[in-house]
Amino acid sequence: MRAPVTIAVTGGAGQIGYQLLFRIAAGDMLGPGQPVRLRILEVEQAMPALEGVVMELHDAAFPLLASVDTTADASVAFEGADHALLVGARPRGPGMERGDLLAANGAIFAAQGRAIQERASDRIRITVTGNPANTNALIAAAAAPDIPRERFSALTRLDHNRAIAQLSAKTGVAVADIRRMIVWGNHSATQVPDVTHAVVAGRPAVELVERSWVREAFVPTVANRGAAIIEARGASSAASAASATIDHVRSWALGTPEGDWTSMSVLSSGEYGVPEGLVSSFPVTCADGEWSLVEGLELDPDVRAQLDRSIAELADEGEQVRALGLL
Ligand code: NDP
Repeated sequence: MRAPVTIAVTGGAGQIGYQLLFRIAAGDMLGPGQPVRLRILEVEQAMPALEGVVMELHDAAFPLLASVDTTADASVAFEGADHALLVGARPRGPGMERGDLLAANGAIFAAQGRAIQERASDRIRITVTGNPANTNALIAAAAAPDIPRERFSALTRLDHNRAIAQLSAKTGVAVADIRRMIVWGNHSATQVPDVTHAVVAGRPAVELVERSWVREAFVPTVANRGAAIIEARGASSAASAASATIDHVRSWALGTPEGDWTSMSVLSSGEYGVPEGLVSSFPVTCADGEWSLVEGLELDPDVRAQLDRSIAELADEGEQVRALGLL
């Protein structure tokens, strides 16, 4: 058996945490030969609920689960962490403006960024799921200048997976036969799901679906899927968000398949007209625990226009957190 890998998860008593922790402990994230230590961070009020989750983790008797620790102290949670999954975030309360949400979460993610820099292992890789995920990742990265920028990421894999599922349903081709989907931009309603480079059972997707379907059905369905799930379920998507977080980290740690890529939000170096320093979703390939941006793709005019809107939103969020002194 290999030495355990230490995984820090924040917001472990929440809806996503309840799905995520069990999948990690089962070996779905880092593979069936890799033991894990879980370090779960929660706010004090959520500690009693988290103790119940820990009881269930023990009761599942996962062979790969080397240990579980809980804490309300970020510097304890991130001590020696190899992966930090930042799931916990302050939800938007009644009467709360977007700026209030950015301020509340900014304080959380800046403190966590500092604690990660001080305590984490030098292999640390950070994945932000808690919303607004892209900007929270930017704040955490700004608070941890000694950690290489490419170690910070935010989740757009759920949007990527939703896009594959929609294309699969439309074409009748299994998800396993769909490659090279892309989601660009922000994890928000301005996100840009892009089928123009996708390959469906070996054929270009653009030969199989109409542009009108992409514009009028595909893009709005993927971008508004979260709201549709809230309406149907009476609660936000949690199992699929946890599953996408697992997929994101597994691709990053274990690699993307030959001939395919995935979508990850990472700090831009100016590629595809995304200003340097914004955290935006891009197509990436992963190997040996590192991601590489897929460069040189030609952007469809619709995609370009949508991406410009998403970039404007990211830049605006960046300005707001800069005004709050968080960057
Ligand atoms: P969830 O577990 O449902 O969601 C957690 C975060 O993930 C939210 O910001 C949520 O955004 C986001 N998210 C990203 N993608 C999705 C998606 N596709 N569907 C749904 N959510 C998505 O929230 P809970 O309120 O159940 O749990 C949050 C937990 O975090 C609480 O237990 C709280 O105590 C904890 N927390 C811990 C902190 C810490 O450890 N320091 C700090 C703050 C909170 P959105 O709100 O937009 O749905």
